[in-house]
Amino acid sequence: MLHLLGVGGANVVFTSDDSPDHVLRFRRDKQIPSSQDVYAFMTAAVYPRLRAAGIDPRSLVDPQIRLISRELLDEAQKLSPVPLMDTKEALLLENCQYYGVSCRIKTLGSSSVGYTDSGIVFISFKPKWLAHSPNAPLEAVHCRTCALNRMRGRPILYCPLRLLSHPREELERFLAHYDLPEKWVQKAAQRFSAAMQSAHVLDALVQVQTDCDPFGILDQKTEMNEKFQVAMATRDCTLYGLIKGDNCVIKLADFDPKDPREKAKFWKNTENNLITGNWYS
Ligand SMILES: [Zn+2]
Repeated sequence: MLHLLGVGGANVVFTSDDSPDHVLRFRRDKQIPSSQDVYAFMTAAVYPRLRAAGIDPRSLVDPQIRLISRELLDEAQKLSPVPLMDTKEALLLENCQYYGVSCRIKTLGSSSVGYTDSGIVFISFKPKWLAHSPNAPLEAVHCRTCALNRMRGRPILYCPLRLLSHPREELERFLAHYDLPEKWVQKAAQRFSAAMQSAHVLDALVQVQTDCDPFGILDQKTEMNEKFQVAMATRDCTLYGLIKGDNCVIKLADFDPKDPREKAKFWKNTENNLITGNWYS
């Protein structure tokens, strides 16, 4: 039996009684890449580049293509508030969000922090753009992510550039926005930053982001090719952490290919607005 877990822009996610440690991800019914396309993009375009950049492969969520019956699709469609893609495949992924544990959760934007009374802490957030946009002015003070949050009037919970240079301090600043008990903030930041560093998560992400997008969306040389898609996917992936005692498990997930035909104009407009509105300075 399926249970609805969440609805995103491209996916609808379920848990299943058969496999509580996993989530089953269906694609929404739009002109978007199929589950098979997402699987191929993750395993053939994104993961090899991250591995070559030195990431610990154990920190990458292991995707599997699951063949689904018409009955299962019908069951999912009944539970889903939006139409699902008519397909025979869904993506089976590890359940990273809270690993099926019930806990107190606070969500701000696309970031969540949860904890249990016994001191287990869950963290999920998007590391976003870990280097300056190649199109940002040379004198840019704010990074791409902070500039965008400023333009949209959203709170800046963490700065990706500072996360890379001062991970522990920036995680403490990030966690202070949540209702996590004070005594756990320092410990969680220390464990999580140590796990990120030993698995080379941010180092590998920033290397792939810069290697795959050296010129930026405004440059004529940036073609809407696979490398650019990889750069954009690594700027929108999610990092999950589970801290339990001295142990911290981290996982990177959500490397979905964006359709450049649909997104290119939006990305170009965003970059132009950031520059002309002086949001970088
Ligand atoms: Zn920043």
